[in-house]
Amino acid sequence: MYIVQIASECAPVAKVGGLGDVVYGLSRELEIKGNCVEIIMPMYDCMRYDHIWGLHEAYRDLWVPWFGGAIHCSVFVGWVHGQVCFFIKPNSGDNFFNRGHYYGALDDHTRFAFFSKAALEFLLKSNKRPDIIHCHDWQTGLLPVMLYEMYKWHGMDHQRVCYTIHNFKHQGIAGANILWATGLNNEGYYFQYDRLQDNFNPLAINYMKAGIVYSNHVTTVSPHHAWEARYSDISCGLGQTLHLHQDKFSGILNGIDYSIWNPEIDNYIPSPYNLESLAEKAKNKKALRERLLLQDNDKPIICFIGRLDDQKGVHLVHHAIYYALNRGAQFVLLGSATEPSINNWFSHEKYHLNQNPDCHLELAFNEELAHLIYAGADMMVVPSNYEPCGLTQMISLKYGTVPIVRGVGGLVSTVFDRDYDQNLPPEKRNGYVFYETDTHALESAMERAIGLYTKFPKEFQALQKQGMAWDFSWNKPGNEYVEIYDHIRA
Ligand code: ADP
Repeated sequence: MYIVQIASECAPVAKVGGLGDVVYGLSRELEIKGNCVEIIMPMYDCMRYDHIWGLHEAYRDLWVPWFGGAIHCSVFVGWVHGQVCFFIKPNSGDNFFNRGHYYGALDDHTRFAFFSKAALEFLLKSNKRPDIIHCHDWQTGLLPVMLYEMYKWHGMDHQRVCYTIHNFKHQGIAGANILWATGLNNEGYYFQYDRLQDNFNPLAINYMKAGIVYSNHVTTVSPHHAWEARYSDISCGLGQTLHLHQDKFSGILNGIDYSIWNPEIDNYIPSPYNLESLAEKAKNKKALRERLLLQDNDKPIICFIGRLDDQKGVHLVHHAIYYALNRGAQFVLLGSATEPSINNWFSHEKYHLNQNPDCHLELAFNEELAHLIYAGADMMVVPSNYEPCGLTQMISLKYGTVPIVRGVGGLVSTVFDRDYDQNLPPEKRNGYVFYETDTHALESAMERAIGLYTKFPKEFQALQKQGMAWDFSWNKPGNEYVEIYDHIRA
């Protein structure tokens, strides 16, 4: 099968969160399974160019129709750790992808509508006719609309679209002008409840809703989150749309790319280890302490890695830092915030805790350091308010770092409480789970984890190994996606 993934991120060149990991990991798995896979993404100025091999111009003069005129683009191609990746570079004064950051500009809805249009135009002009176009998140929600309402009539009538929603919170809201920009035009036709009109704002179109309505199949990133999306307010107003399209909506748990996230072959950690040689993990803990100037003692290290965002339960993350320090543990945080108030808050905490030899807060995005933290820490907290899938807990399991998570979304399907899980035998359980959003719930789970580490080290080691034994590779989810592709092609 010939599959094209179209997305705004692909790890490690352009990664803000799990979306980037998924686009790369799924593409690689699909190729291992014998498919031909290409990725199309924007050419950002702030990408990690050091992770692209053989970058060169692949298509010189791509004129993308836009607002009745056209924008001149170049398309580059390169290999991202073995995956073929096309990068779209518009040469216009709008500077769509030269902003020094990926998201957060006032015209994001215009930037990514343009990207979707340019990706289709590139497929059309370069005579690429994939069997499957797999789009991701709101940034590419308009793509299936343009495919079925416009490009279909230009010879792209055999392409089928799978659309994956990684986060319902960001849906892409725009006014009628975007219809005129993309050439869809016909306002009266698209401003309908059963088409693109936002479910709450009759004067706006909703990209994610467009993606749901027009795609042949829609997935979200875990079966539990698919259920939450339909039956709770977590889908931020799209529940009714999902209900109407329930026959083509499902949840597939994300996988982890074990060619990247594997302590046995991880180039970013000083001492490789696996289930049999878990004792080597201690050397990485020492290296982490040296790197972050933490004192060397017999305390456990508890970590948090993730976006500092309301979604991630920042109040509980903050509480976890002080609870860990009070309970005789060390704490390492790696996170970046886009919201100024959260950034100021954690910057203040960093300043306040700067001299504490048991704590380090790193307020940045740092892929290399993330690897060392997964390998060096003993436990990881993931106290999310909601979590469509969550990758950090699955990565931490592979690294023998015991996850302490709130039981929501994909966390429910991946972490099973050592003491209380009802469905798995004790030897399969792999972490700690709490459910409420208050600090007591978090504390009780952290207390159990710290208690096991300090009082029953052998049992703690057994729990680490049980976690490492779980397989969250892309193999199974890869098969599930192939089944969906086959189904929508038939
Ligand atoms: P989300 O997609 O909601 O951000 P996930 O748990 O699905 O969360 O994926 C997060 C991914 O981003 C993981 O690979 C994690 O290691 C990485 N990550 C998050 N924050 C940082 C950071 N500050 N520095 C390095 N990697 C990070």
